[in-house]
Amino acid sequence: MKIGRSDIHIISDGSLRMDGGSIFGIVPKAIWSKTHKPDRLNRVEIALNCLLIQTNNLNILIDTGIGNKHNKITQTRFHMRGGNLVKNLEYYGLYPNDIDYVILTHLHFDHVGGCTTYEGGKLVPVFPKATYLVQQRDWQEATCTNERTRTAYIEEDFLPLNQTNQLELLNGDTEIISRLWVRHTGGHTDGHQMVYFESDGEKIACLGDILMIPQQIPVPYITSYDLYPTQTFDAKRYWLKKAREENWLLILGHGTTEKSGYLYETNGKTIFASIEVI
Ligand SMILES: [Zn+2]
Repeated sequence: MKIGRSDIHIISDGSLRMDGGSIFGIVPKAIWSKTHKPDRLNRVEIALNCLLIQTNNLNILIDTGIGNKHNKITQTRFHMRGGNLVKNLEYYGLYPNDIDYVILTHLHFDHVGGCTTYEGGKLVPVFPKATYLVQQRDWQEATCTNERTRTAYIEEDFLPLNQTNQLELLNGDTEIISRLWVRHTGGHTDGHQMVYFESDGEKIACLGDILMIPQQIPVPYITSYDLYPTQTFDAKRYWLKKAREENWLLILGHGTTEKSGYLYETNGKTIFASIEVI
């Protein structure tokens, strides 16, 4: 799909199932289960959508899914069907060497699993020429965990990036290349960031886990993983309003049937109108 003079594609790494309660936070199951029927273990399926932006001869990837390093127990627990990112990039004629930047919204395992892989028993970055970009505050939180945050991070996913000098830590809002910005949102994690890109007046954004799926549009619908919930509320109010007013195409990192679309307001209610990006 064209955005101005640039190309964008949603590249799937696969899917997993998460506890429904952890996706919808304080929203009662009696409400969320009307639209999301859980399996017998109370899990709801979510997609692992990565975004590829091709502009000015650069290939920029946003998030990398869960990758292929999980053991059988974890795979079963989350019903993981992942590790497809590299194969699906090939569909667009791209190989790991072709990726210039990997922007990580945050370092949770379902966003950074595809950053590294085992090659001949050695843990290496999947994209050998890429610079991996993440907020300094997110790196801090991911490498200094506590009892609540520990299970969301797997150090093998991101520590090797530092060892090969492919990691760049950002301090707040940054223009990565012309008209491609990351904006610090906080909320989900201290250093969570969203990505915004503009080409010839057309605008797209990936809000990361500030808006995982379209059903999370109402402000209180946030995950129970959010470490700073009131910050997430502020970020949602601000960015969803802006996206609606400025007609941004939103890419949803975890949407299954609806992966991208625009926001409209009808009778005081914000509606997500999905369109397909291929
Ligand atoms: Zn996520």
